[in-house]
Amino acid sequence: MIRFGPSGIPLSCKGRTLRDGIEDVHNLGLTAMEVQLVRVNLNERFAADEDIGHTIREVPGELVVKIGRSTDDDQTTFFSDFTTTIERGDDLYHLASGVASDYLELVELGKIARELDIELTLHAPYYMDFADVDGLAQKSIDSAVWGGLLADSLQARLVVTHLGRYGDLDRTLALERVKGNLEIVRDRFKAAKLSPWIGAEASGLQEVVGGLDELLWLAKHVRGVVPVLNFAHLHAREGGLLRRPEDFQAVFDKVSKVTDGHYHAHFSGVEHEGGNEIRYTPIKKGDLRFEPLAECLLMGPVDLTLISSSPLLEHDAMYMRVILDRVVAKKIGKPEVPEPVLPPAPLMKPPAKPAPKKPPAVKPTKKPTAWPAAKKQKIKKAPKKRPARKRTKPKSRPKAKKKPARRRR
Ligand SMILES: [Zn+2]
Repeated sequence: MIRFGPSGIPLSCKGRTLRDGIEDVHNLGLTAMEVQLVRVNLNERFAADEDIGHTIREVPGELVVKIGRSTDDDQTTFFSDFTTTIERGDDLYHLASGVASDYLELVELGKIARELDIELTLHAPYYMDFADVDGLAQKSIDSAVWGGLLADSLQARLVVTHLGRYGDLDRTLALERVKGNLEIVRDRFKAAKLSPWIGAEASGLQEVVGGLDELLWLAKHVRGVVPVLNFAHLHAREGGLLRRPEDFQAVFDKVSKVTDGHYHAHFSGVEHEGGNEIRYTPIKKGDLRFEPLAECLLMGPVDLTLISSSPLLEHDAMYMRVILDRVVAKKIGKPEVPEPVLPPAPLMKPPAKPAPKKPPAVKPTKKPTAWPAAKKQKIKKAPKKRPARKRTKPKSRPKAKKKPARRRR
């Protein structure tokens, strides 16, 4: 199955809460969303009477991510899990994240997402220092674990994290340190019985850990870590590597050795120079095109979640879906799907213009076609419960492909 979704709340979404975002993603016909945990400021308070005997998951109105408890020898022990019960005298550290008010809400949002067949993942704070070149490894570990607490409550598949800079370290040593610290994160996930995978994201800069081979090495050596294929970053870091379907296939082939069969990826246009990403661009701009990836996806069944990290977020997620449908239609000899009509794509904040809440009740004629998604481009409220869409592959897939059509410029 191939899922598409935005990284964060859709730009065109009227509300700015996670709940609004999930509903909006569903209404746009998308089936994935990466929740952005950007802020991790902690506030501290003493445990109150009503907290005693409860776990952090049961504290209403707050996301407590850490319990601090003084021991007899004047040390403090910290707990970040859902099993330790709060005692008198404990310090409670709660997160001002803006993601949700408490764990109960996260659990409920996770349920809603599953009912709407939306796969959630969570992106940990961007700044990470797992090689400890800025002395912030401990903070990075904590942030990843807190992300794990939130992701587990959402039943998100994985926590995506950046790895941090090499600094002045020898690259091998930096990678060893990253490995060691990811092992700590993994062990803390395990101890707290947190289910999400740890997704190590490909970097788009030479100075940041996260080349494809490094991700593979980490995934191979740290159980519980999987690579997050940020194609824009890979493309930039390798100086424009991803041009043909075979180039994408080579990436999948490499990664297949370290995953359980599912791939989590980000896609966007990208401006790059000298092996470094300059900035994300809309997919239609820049030299990283989506068509070759779409063609690659036809070569074999791929279980893939594609998160749009483009400045156009959901618009480009929908664009990718349409392009994939068009490539499929072309392959199986169907008449070409017309150019998609997408809603206007704001670059900045969405205008406060309300999107039509309820589309006209047009009953689609239920004619089973092989590629139902190809035509569904109008924003439309889908039925509450939708069976998971399966991409049925054409019976015989043409193996050899013509050269991909040149890009129109
Ligand atoms: Zn990222």
